[in-house]
Amino acid sequence: MIVKDDIGLYCPAGNFYVDPLKPCENALITHAHADHARPGMTNYICTHATKDIMKLRIGHELNISSVDYGQEITLGNATVSFHSAGHILGSAQIKINVNENITVITGDYKVHTDNTCDAFQHIECNTFISEATFANPKYVWTNFGDEIERIYNWYLGNKNNGVNSVLCAYSLGKSQRIINALNKQYPVDIYAHDNIRNINKIYQNYGISNLQTIRINENKDMTSGIIVIPPGARKSKFLKNIGPYKTGFCSGWAINKLDEYDEGFKISDHADWHELISAITKSKAKEVILIHGSGNVLKKYLNTKGIQISDFTRSNTKESTMQLSMFNE
Ligand SMILES: [Zn+2]
Repeated sequence: MIVKDDIGLYCPAGNFYVDPLKPCENALITHAHADHARPGMTNYICTHATKDIMKLRIGHELNISSVDYGQEITLGNATVSFHSAGHILGSAQIKINVNENITVITGDYKVHTDNTCDAFQHIECNTFISEATFANPKYVWTNFGDEIERIYNWYLGNKNNGVNSVLCAYSLGKSQRIINALNKQYPVDIYAHDNIRNINKIYQNYGISNLQTIRINENKDMTSGIIVIPPGARKSKFLKNIGPYKTGFCSGWAINKLDEYDEGFKISDHADWHELISAITKSKAKEVILIHGSGNVLKKYLNTKGIQISDFTRSNTKESTMQLSMFNE
């Protein structure tokens, strides 16, 4: 029902691609991260929040139709609906029903709780096309609240030494989750990069609270707060003017040693090893296809459980490039 070509995952029955890599006529978009939502498509369909974020990040001229979670639409011979993926605001798994044969394409997802987006929805299906970004038993997340407490204590230590705390987190999703948790639990000012503050406004439009931040001002002493910036901004000029600083990186990749940062915080918006297995198992799918990342270890594990696996992760080198681009976002 779904085939993969050089544009991406294609559904012939509905004549659409999901998260296409190259320009095409009809694009269904799982979420607004840049490695899934690209410019150049004739028509887009996604959730309302994803539409708002794409218009901000890519351009207001995009031709986008948006839908509610669970709303069924007919495209050719396919019935399609979007269901929460728990990854970031607006993120969706796409359920495709062709003659009662159901495929779910997860996009990026996580199963553990996130106060800044809807919870992951388990959907039973025949074919489950799952991301596999962290598909290795070494990737098991620690408690989110514990990591937030570690961030706060790291900041207190820096502040006592007169050092700025520069926290690097992806501007869409990760930053909002961290800012929301810090504001809710700790008495600390949050300074944030404009890219983050612009996304915050969209989150606030969807009722997400505790996202108040202060605009970064390099002429001001900011050691009494936490400065949140996207990882790509850590080479920015303004950092040269703020005095001494330490950097922290919030990512699932922080399980590995990070050479470019002073500290790592293991906070991910992707499923860890256990979450991948639980989502795949609960889908009751007879066929599982892995995309994004390296699926080898998970493939072997699922084979021992009698689940049939197709692995798209190594068949297309663009996928690994995509993963890298996300890392550098
Ligand atoms: Zn994503």
